[in-house]
Amino acid sequence: MQTKGKVVIITGASSGIGEAIAITLAAKGAKVVLGARRQERLEKLISRIKADGGEAVYRVTDIKQRDDLVKLVNLACQTYGHLDVIINNAGIARLSRMDDGQVEDWEEMIDVNLKGTLYGVAAALPIFKQQGFGHIINIISTSGIKIAPLQGVYAGTKNAVRTIAEALRQESGGNYRVTGISPGFVNTELVEHIPDEAARAAMKEKMAQIAIAPQDIANAVLYAISQPANVDVGDIVIRPTVQD
Ligand code: NDP
Repeated sequence: MQTKGKVVIITGASSGIGEAIAITLAAKGAKVVLGARRQERLEKLISRIKADGGEAVYRVTDIKQRDDLVKLVNLACQTYGHLDVIINNAGIARLSRMDDGQVEDWEEMIDVNLKGTLYGVAAALPIFKQQGFGHIINIISTSGIKIAPLQGVYAGTKNAVRTIAEALRQESGGNYRVTGISPGFVNTELVEHIPDEAARAAMKEKMAQIAIAPQDIANAVLYAISQPANVDVGDIVIRPTVQD
């Protein structure tokens, strides 16, 4: 399997799914380049990966800042000489009813989940085109597939990412691969950051009942990355078996 030596950027690596992806890929010999805002968490993760014999660097990154993504890509290229994969994983879920009018939360989700992902794509594409290879992996959501109350704008941002990714794939001309991974309920701190109390309580209850582990998503990322260069893994949906 072809993971050893690959240079992989992971946004949102400071917790949950991103952290599990970083540990999993580093254990398979990938050189991971980690971005998120919480420096202490990233430092701890780097120490853990290095203690286990892996290779990793980080840069404090706010994906709402376009330049932060450029700098993260530069860090990967300057440290390891090239870039194989960018995993646009960072995201937030500020869920609420539409008639609650939480416009600032809508904007924040658009800025992080959609524009932040696009900034990652914009930063990586010139490198991929120049190299003639690369791989964009977006962590999307089953929310974008089965639309539910409270999840309107969140699902909208995720579906926008899915739509754009398909155009990207068709435009790639074989220069890079594009993979979308859509998790269902995964046990992470994502729901802890939902400002709306009722929405947070509902999601936490659902999580406690059915959520799968971040490792289950990391395994899918590993699968997509480790396929031969002529194999493009498109969309993968991974949800709890009992999720409706
Ligand atoms: P977590 O809350 O554990 O992780 C979210 C990550 O995103 C954190 O590392 C956080 O780091 C980072 N992040 C948030 N905002 C920014 C920002 N502005 N700039 C940089 N990094 C940021 O949740 P998950 O691991 O669950 O979420 C990962 C992805 O998986 C998200 O895109 C989410 O939408 C998606 N997903 C999750 C599901 C679930 O059930 N958990 C289901 C479907 C999809 P920091 O705060 O340090 O910046």
